[in-house]
Amino acid sequence: MKIIMLGAPGAGKGTQAKMIAEKYSIPHISTGDIFRANIKEGTELGKKAKTYMDKGELVPDELVVDLVVDRVAKDDAKNGYVLDGFPRTIPQAEALDKALEAIGEKVDYAIDVDVPDENIIKRMSGRRACVECGGTYHIEHIPPKKEGICDKCGGGLILRDDDKPDTVKNRLSVYHEQTQPLIEYYSKKGILKTVDGTAEMMEVFASIIKILG
Ligand code: AMP
Repeated sequence: MKIIMLGAPGAGKGTQAKMIAEKYSIPHISTGDIFRANIKEGTELGKKAKTYMDKGELVPDELVVDLVVDRVAKDDAKNGYVLDGFPRTIPQAEALDKALEAIGEKVDYAIDVDVPDENIIKRMSGRRACVECGGTYHIEHIPPKKEGICDKCGGGLILRDDDKPDTVKNRLSVYHEQTQPLIEYYSKKGILKTVDGTAEMMEVFASIIKILG
C-alpha cells in the first residue's frame, strides 16, 4: 500500500503517518525528518536544506526528488510506505509518478488531512520536537510524560525554528501556493481521500483506517 499524506504544515499528517506506518507495518518516510537528520549530521544536503527550511520555504525540487525515489526503492519499502511531506509540488508529484510507472507501480491513496488555517497557527506554537530523535509532541494534545523531555529517548524538547509563528505564516502561504494544487492533481486521478483533521487525533486515525481498510 503506497500512501501519500497531504495537508497544511501542522495539520497533524506526521502523527497520522506514523500511526498508519505502525498499523500496516510499512515505513514512514518523512522528507522533513530526512532533512533534519542531515542538518544534525552536518551533511552538504543538510546545509543546503537548512537555508530554505529556516525561512519556511521549500527546498528545491532537485534536492528532494532523487532522495525520495532512492528511498522508496529500498527493500523495506517493497510492501508499500507512507510518504509524509512529499510530494509538495506538482513537479515532485509528476517525478514520483514517473519513477513508479517505470517499475509498474502507482500511488494507491492520497489522504488530505484538512484543517483550516486559523487552527494551524494556534496548533503549531504548541508543537515540540525532540532534538535527539525527532519525536514530536504537543503541549496540549500530546504532552510528554515529563515536561520538556522526550518520552522515547530522554532528549530535550524544543519549538523548532520552522514552527515559530512568522515562519508558520510563511509556510502556510507556501503551502497554498505550491502544495494545495496537489489536491486537484490526486483528485483527478481518483485517489484523493479527505479527512477532517480538526477532529480528535484518534478520530482522525479511525477515519483513515476506514478508508485504507
Ligand atoms: P516538514 O517536517 O514536512 O514540515 O518539513 C519541514 C521543512 O522541510 C519544510 O518546510 C521544507 O522547507 C522542507 N521540506 C520537507 N519536505 C519537502 C519537500 N517534499 N519539498 C521541499 N521542501 C521540503
